[in-house]
Amino acid sequence: MADVVAEVDLLVQDGSLALAETGVPGGGAVKETKELRLSGDVNDRFLDGPACRRIAIVDFEPATGLPSSPPATFTPFTSNPRSGKYVADGDETSATNIAINAFGTVFQTVRMFEGRDALGRRVDWAFGSEQLLVVPRAGEWANAFYERATRSLQFFSFVGESGARVHTALSRDIVAHECGHALLDAVAPSLYDSSTPQSVAIHESVADLVAVIMALDSRRLREAVLARSDNVLAGANAFTAIAEEFGMARPGADGIARHALRELENDETLETLSGARPHILSTLLSAIFYDTLNVVFAKLFQEAKLPDANGVTPTPAAAANKALGTAQIVFRRFLLRGIDYLPPGELSFADVGRATLAADRAARPAASEVRENFSHQFVKRLVVATAQELESPQPQSLAVPPDQVSSLHDSDWAAYQYATRHRSTLGLPDGVSFTVLPRVDSTKVIGAKGDDGVAPIQRELIVKIAWNDTEDSTGTVGGMRVVPTGATVVLKWDTGECLALVRSDVTGVEHRRDRDRLLAQLEEDGALATHDGADVGESVGLRSDGDSGLRASHRLLHLAGWDG
Ligand SMILES: [Zn+2]
Repeated sequence: MADVVAEVDLLVQDGSLALAETGVPGGGAVKETKELRLSGDVNDRFLDGPACRRIAIVDFEPATGLPSSPPATFTPFTSNPRSGKYVADGDETSATNIAINAFGTVFQTVRMFEGRDALGRRVDWAFGSEQLLVVPRAGEWANAFYERATRSLQFFSFVGESGARVHTALSRDIVAHECGHALLDAVAPSLYDSSTPQSVAIHESVADLVAVIMALDSRRLREAVLARSDNVLAGANAFTAIAEEFGMARPGADGIARHALRELENDETLETLSGARPHILSTLLSAIFYDTLNVVFAKLFQEAKLPDANGVTPTPAAAANKALGTAQIVFRRFLLRGIDYLPPGELSFADVGRATLAADRAARPAASEVRENFSHQFVKRLVVATAQELESPQPQSLAVPPDQVSSLHDSDWAAYQYATRHRSTLGLPDGVSFTVLPRVDSTKVIGAKGDDGVAPIQRELIVKIAWNDTEDSTGTVGGMRVVPTGATVVLKWDTGECLALVRSDVTGVEHRRDRDRLLAQLEEDGALATHDGADVGESVGLRSDGDSGLRASHRLLHLAGWDG
């Protein structure tokens, strides 16, 4: 059956300042027509809202806060009525246009994340139901966030310093960023209740990088960025211009510009950011990945400048465009597949490094300059002392006969047997109980298309085992703290061989000190609701009376003012 399609016009970038300045035709509110595509699910279709099975707009009248009727109507094509269009109206800030833009950008972000150039599988939302709600006009506030409890992305509006009203749902960066939080929560739900500052920061960093990938996904934006920056990504370039727009609209402690993409390029180290709160800390991890994007682009640009088979040398602009188009795909594979290999529990930046390197090696076993450079960044920025700390083994004792891979995926019993049998290899302490999470079946593209137009793929089984460590915590709360931890095993589906074993390491004294410090900061600022057996509502709380680990610490990332 043919794919079901909805046509939408999406803003290329909020305000499109960067495009206007480069003289790209149609500067101003530049839009691109995109086809939103539902594949392979006969029960899914586009509805008024916009809505589909997994994403739905829920709109409220700003003046009254009352629910409004679906702001955008699905207009079917006569030839194929399951496909059609969401038609925008002439007013850029109408309820219809805001809804279409938010829905379309969320839809495309999810599709990018799950595509064969990234995870290669459908994710299940962390809140346990099928549909992510998107509230494009959530009210008057300089803020936007993902919230698990309400299963939603919420986008607010506010009057910026210039006096103009800013609708956060119209900013592609902000929408992609918040959707990035929802997607990461689906893949690594334990990060939502982290007590380790680096764990909380990983969420912010990945969300920012998802926004970068979505910006790079726009051909028009890529062209504009390169034209403006003279075909260079590193240094002060057109991405800084995106950052300015992001910053202008981005809510912060003072209602304006705290956290912009420009921060993704910086010289911070773990030492310069010692004691920093999660938002700021996140820029260190983001910078490591952004540098990697620069390296990938620079290498591809050099190759693209060479004469082609007919001896024709491309113009620098054409070569740069081609290189960045490929670089963004290489980069999304590199980052997002690493995310899928993250062990459950609390995590450190080094764990992200380990998982990323393991995932890349699983898909591309040959030695890689990109991986080498990426490791070097972790050493240079004092996250690890040596690159060897980022290596993870591929113990073939974890391999299974090919005919047992499916049952390891399908059967909880088989999965528990497997984990029990391999306790010591997995690093599972004796006598500690554990959980095997639902296994993941993923099929990824692992190379360029061949002469036959077909790209090589690899199917993987990802098995995650979770257990708890405990530690004593200091501070006025004191007592015991549970530190969730775990391991990820990845097997090649066809052969059963072990592609990776990734184990997290957050029990070190420096991580314990950081957890104590985060708890003390929260107490000092009155941002901590002590657990009293009731729901902690909007606050960050403690997990339980006997555990000084944090609950819903993800909220630190959207409590405007706490983390500035
Ligand atoms: Zn965020």
